[in-house]
Amino acid sequence: AYWPASGDLRVENLSARYSTDGPKVLQDLSFQIKSGERVGIVGRTGSGKSSLTLSLLRCISTEGSVYYDGIPTSAINLDALRSNVTIIPQIPELLSGTLRQNLDPFDQHDDAVLYDALRSAGLFSVQDEFEEARLTLDSAIASGGGNLSVGQRQILALARAIVRGSKLLILDEATSAIDYKTDSAIQSSLRNELHNVTQIIVAHRLQTIIDADKIIVLDAGKLVEFGSPWEL
Ligand code: ATP
Ligand code: MG
Repeated sequence: AYWPASGDLRVENLSARYSTDGPKVLQDLSFQIKSGERVGIVGRTGSGKSSLTLSLLRCISTEGSVYYDGIPTSAINLDALRSNVTIIPQIPELLSGTLRQNLDPFDQHDDAVLYDALRSAGLFSVQDEFEEARLTLDSAIASGGGNLSVGQRQILALARAIVRGSKLLILDEATSAIDYKTDSAIQSSLRNELHNVTQIIVAHRLQTIIDADKIIVLDAGKLVEFGSPWEL
């Protein structure tokens, strides 16, 4: 239940494609991320950023190796992998039901824990206390999350990761759909509230990840730079 213990990630010669006869969208990537580091991924549209996030959870077909805490993902049951590592996609899907059910599907936590997670994720800094459409734990979420903005959905997905205690968080930042206030709430949450979590953040503005420990630059499916922001 406590796996992965730390959040170390090692990637060796990783290539990926969407179908067996399709083109390689990632080519021979190797890099290593230490537990607790914040890593940014940048690169132009189509360079493979989202594909890399999917490859780390074996959601698309891959060659090469990915190790979490030294254990190859090929040796880890997919359910165990996906329940210990959280990936927040560019457009998160939520479950229909209440906000509470989305945060705590097995009803294991007190409301106070869920409110703390929402606060840590930045929800209350983007919505006014007296706003009519203010979200509470009893708010109904439409199937997929269609009644919420993409930014709100990312915040809720982040809160769910906090509730689950994920040690490795992969966030694929929403693109144009997200406003500045929501974006900065998410980034300040990642920076200030999630200290012991290894974070991989796909960013669309360099500014977003300028204080990251490492930055990965992708170009046409290849890793062209990997280092600390001041080295690049
Ligand atoms: P963006 O900044 O626009 O989100 P990205 O860096 O995330 O771009 P990817 O979505 O990883 O880029 O795309 C990398 C390559 O994989 C592109 O050539 C794209 O056309 C291809 N690709 C992405 N999704 C699929 C898919 N579902 N099926 C087939 N090819 C895909
Ligand atoms: Mg993408």
